[in-house]
Amino acid sequence: MDTLTFLGTGDAMGVPRVYCDCEICSEARMSGMNRRLRSSALVCDGQDMFVIDCGPDWRKMMELIEMREVQSMLITHAHFDHIAGLPEWADACRWLGRKGNLYAPREVLEQIGRQYPWLSGHINMMEADTGITLCGWDITCWKVNHGKNGYSYAYRFEKNGYAWVYNSDSIHLSEEEKKPLHGLDLLVLGTSFVHETAEFSTRSVYDMKEAAELLAEVKPKRAIYTHMSHDVDTRKKLDLPVGTELAAFGMVVKIKR
Ligand SMILES: [Zn+2]
Ligand SMILES: [Zn+2]
Repeated sequence: MDTLTFLGTGDAMGVPRVYCDCEICSEARMSGMNRRLRSSALVCDGQDMFVIDCGPDWRKMMELIEMREVQSMLITHAHFDHIAGLPEWADACRWLGRKGNLYAPREVLEQIGRQYPWLSGHINMMEADTGITLCGWDITCWKVNHGKNGYSYAYRFEKNGYAWVYNSDSIHLSEEEKKPLHGLDLLVLGTSFVHETAEFSTRSVYDMKEAAELLAEVKPKRAIYTHMSHDVDTRKKLDLPVGTELAAFGMVVKIKR
């Protein structure tokens, strides 16, 4: 069976934020309902699997789900909350004596190579620009606006007529950037805030208000929000569009017709 499992569902700082004593960060420290690791997900076809993004919580995630090895990783962009676990993964590959496969657009691979030059000793760097296939999924990527942080990449997956997109870090997409979001069975979208009041030029990820407008436009059958900051209280019933829910650690989604 094809499944998508959410591992991390937090924004770049995770929840709780180290410096913060707000109600949600405090709750995250106490009961943990709002505790969120940096965004990452696991795709499995029942036999093979791959992980999307490898942030600083990668090691912790692996321990929590009791998984000992990852053969393949797909990376959206080279921000630390999406790649800071790569050196640990490379070390694990070294100890296992098996090279891992890292897939990303060429320029992301170059950025990663500059940051961690030793990585390619233990990991095969594979370009994903013109499309790849993993676990039977035909995977394409495209550049998406990431606001003040530049841009990220989104991935579209297709298999047996089922189509879904993973787009954790984007804001205010252009018409061109929205095109691959049409006709989806599932859209996984990063929404850092319920409503972010900071000045637009300082922002980098959709808030839930803007996301609702995007969903109304591209009409996926189902949507799941991830990459959520300490602004989002998952204990509360939020006013979300029909067919939309919040991701949570360990949540398993069937990705199949
Ligand atoms: Zn991010
Ligand atoms: Zn980012």
